[in-house]
Parts: sequence; C-alpha cells; structure tokens
Amino acid sequence: MKRLLLFVLVLSIALLLLFINTVRQPSFQPTPEKITQVVINIEEAAQRLSSLLQFPSISTQMDDAAFSAQTQHMQQHWPTVYDTVSLQTFNQHSQLLTWTGTDASLEPLLLLAHLDVVPAKQQSWQQPPFSGNIVDGEIWGRGALDDKGSATAILEAIAALIEKGFRPRRTVMVAFGHDEEVGGTKGAVAISQYLKAQMTSPWMTLDEGGFVLSNGPLPVSAPVALVGIAEKGYLSVRITATAESGHASMPPRETAVFHLANALNAIEASPFKASLDGPANQLFDWLTAETPWPEKLLFANRWLFSPLIIATLEKSPGGNAMLRTTQAPTLLNAGIKDNVLPETASAVINLRLHPRDSGQQALGHLRKVIDNEAVTVEPLEAFDNSSTVISPTDHPAFKILAQSIRNSFPDALVAPYLMVATSDSRHYTSLANRVYRFLPFRLDNDELKRLHGRDERISLRMYQEAIQFYANLIILSSDTQEY
Ligand SMILES: [Zn+2]
Repeated sequence: MKRLLLFVLVLSIALLLLFINTVRQPSFQPTPEKITQVVINIEEAAQRLSSLLQFPSISTQMDDAAFSAQTQHMQQHWPTVYDTVSLQTFNQHSQLLTWTGTDASLEPLLLLAHLDVVPAKQQSWQQPPFSGNIVDGEIWGRGALDDKGSATAILEAIAALIEKGFRPRRTVMVAFGHDEEVGGTKGAVAISQYLKAQMTSPWMTLDEGGFVLSNGPLPVSAPVALVGIAEKGYLSVRITATAESGHASMPPRETAVFHLANALNAIEASPFKASLDGPANQLFDWLTAETPWPEKLLFANRWLFSPLIIATLEKSPGGNAMLRTTQAPTLLNAGIKDNVLPETASAVINLRLHPRDSGQQALGHLRKVIDNEAVTVEPLEAFDNSSTVISPTDHPAFKILAQSIRNSFPDALVAPYLMVATSDSRHYTSLANRVYRFLPFRLDNDELKRLHGRDERISLRMYQEAIQFYANLIILSSDTQEY
C-alpha cells in the first residue's frame, strides 16, 4: 500500500512538473506594432510586374537579348529607384543596387532576389507562362513567385519610400542574380566576391526561402512564416559493386548485382541519425507557446518526448527531411546483355546533408553500413557541398526580421527552419553569418507546387503585402539603434 502511495505521489509530481513547464513556455513571437503604411498604387505596381514576367529570362537557355532587354526595362519602369541608387552590373545581367544610408558606420542590409526563371511548358498552363496576364486579381507568369515577384516587390518598396522622402540610415543593397536556377556562379558568386573584396559584411542578408504557410504540417492553426536559417548540403555518391563477369548459365554465388542490392538494402535499413537538435529545435522553441493542448505538453517537454515527436515527424517526407540527412537512390546501372553477368553494378544516391553531418562523415557512414570489400562508395563529383552555417536567431537582425514579419502578417507566427532546397544565399554566407531565407508571400501547401510548376501566379493582395513587408524591413533595419 505504501509503495502504491509513493508511486502515485511521484507520478503526480512528475505530471505537475510537466504541466508547469508547459504553461510557463515563453512566447518567442514579437508583438505586432502599428506600421508605417507605404502608399502603393497596386494596380500600377501589378502592371509593372506583369510587364517583367513577359521576358523569357530562362537561365538554362540564356538568351542574352532577353536578359539585356529585361535590365533596360527595369531601369525604365522603376526610374525613381534607378535614379537614386548606384547600379553596378556583373557579367552583364546581374545587378547590385546601393542605396547609401546616412550613417556609414552601420553595416548594410542586403536584399537578394533573382531575375532568371526555369522553363515552362506553354500548353499545360491556363494562361501562357510568359503572358503576364492579369486575370481576376492575379498576375500570371513564370517567375511571379520565384522570384521576379520578390525582385519587383523590393523595387516597389524602395520607390514608395523614396517618394515618401525616406532616406535610410543603414545602407540598403539589393543584389539581383541572373543565374540562380543554374547555380549562381555568374551572378551571386561574382557579386559576393566583389563584396568580399570591398570588405562588406552585411548586417543582414535576406533571400528567397520559406513562405507564410497556411495549412502546413505544423501543429499550430495560425499561418507560419518560415524563415530558413540554414540550407541543407547536397552530395551525390556512386556505389559500385564489382564481381567477375561471365556467362549467365553458371552464375557464381557472388554477382555484382546481388552485392549492389545488398548494399542498397543495408543503406535503407540504416538511415542517418534523426534528432531535434539545431534548426528543428529552434522551430519548436518559436512555436510551442502558441501550440494548442495536448501537443503543447509534448513540445514543451521535448527532453522527455523527443522520441515520440521524432517518430511522428519522420513518417512524412517533409518532417523526415527536417530531422536528418536523407538518402534518395536516383540512378541504377548494370549489364549490357540479358545472358551476360556484368562486372560492375552501380547506383547513385543523392544525399541532402543535415548540418550535423559533413560530406566526409556521410561517406563514412555509408561505407560502414555497407561493409563489403566488393563495394566502393565515392562522391559523384569532386566537390562536397556541405550544409551552410546555421544563422543566429538571437541577433538583433533576426529580431528586426521577425518584427517586420509580424507587423506585415499579424496573424502569422514566425518560425526558423532548415531549408531543404538551395538558393543564391549560400554564396553570401562567407560575408557574415546573418543570412535568412524568407519570401513574404502567403501560400498553402497546394499553391507551393506552382513554384517551378504549372500556373505560377500571384494575387494583387499577396503582392501588396510583400511590398509592405520589404518597406517595413527597410524602415525597421534603419531605425535600430543596436549594432
Ligand atoms: Zn528562386
């Protein structure tokens, strides 16, 4: 009886502690403040974006004339901006705009966007992809979301602020790359090298990335403004099994294909380690106070419940990618004839590296798991593109970014996260570690598919919010006394 009483007592205390820990979770969300509204004629702004969407600036095809015409068009359509800022071009089509602030001691705010797009199959779209048609309050075209809509929203915000008589204290730089979709070597790399030579260390760098996502997989009902604080690394490895070739009529026990199959099975059976450290932990820090019960109890007590949270998250591809280095088999190769045993059989696995795993560590893990001398594991290309550094969320720059988001999207919650895709911003991480990835567009899970997909478009309302967001960010970054 005494033992039972003791057990009940201990259990009650434990539950009470969990409960207290849950209700005492502090909110990380800044309180939305009243904002300086910039005056925008959204109909005219929509026309300007529409006109830019008509240039087929497809970087896989690199039509120089289209890119040159586009640059010229931008200067003609945003004269307020181009008359005020200084413009430098890089490799002909990338632009660096500098709007000099009044206080030279402040490090600049650097806004990134790219002017190139991926191809689009004309027939499958409801409106032609390079029409820029405005239908029922939506601007249609390849690049509306990724990423011309962001580039022009930045220009609109700057133009509106100039017309208001605003002059930033902190210098604002805008870098428009023209080859992001093919790696950014001519644009982002060239601009970041130039900035490095100038010893420019941005106070904050902001590029495309997360969105204001509604109906997402997160446990909160409010939309979530996801801010990428790191990008996963990218590494493809070739796994090659070797055995004696010969006639298929008398096969030996060991064949290259069976070796390879065993190796692939071993890889599947031993996925990379998953845990809630790094960006995933920060995501839950920022959302837990706003998470409804009973999930709130779990997230507030991750020290106890992380195995349960991980087990739930890893069931979905998106959740799984957030927690660990993923391994996707993409290419298979063996054999030349149906009755000949191949000497080699190979597979390519595309890895997306979590910040906790370097490329070398990932190769080591695969070799250990396969553990077969007949099988080699080598990087497909000579480079190891490990993940980026994790940008801080306790720096004033992140606070200003979070505040600007909350001011522009008061119903949304800000959350840092790990980006699975790559962007131009990785080329800027050597300048300073405050690199964030956020596109100020409201999207749901279905609308996300329009990026690089069919029927890409942006509503005038979304566009207006985006312009207002960039204006807020410029004003708040300029006002801050810190740094
Ligand atoms: Zn993009």
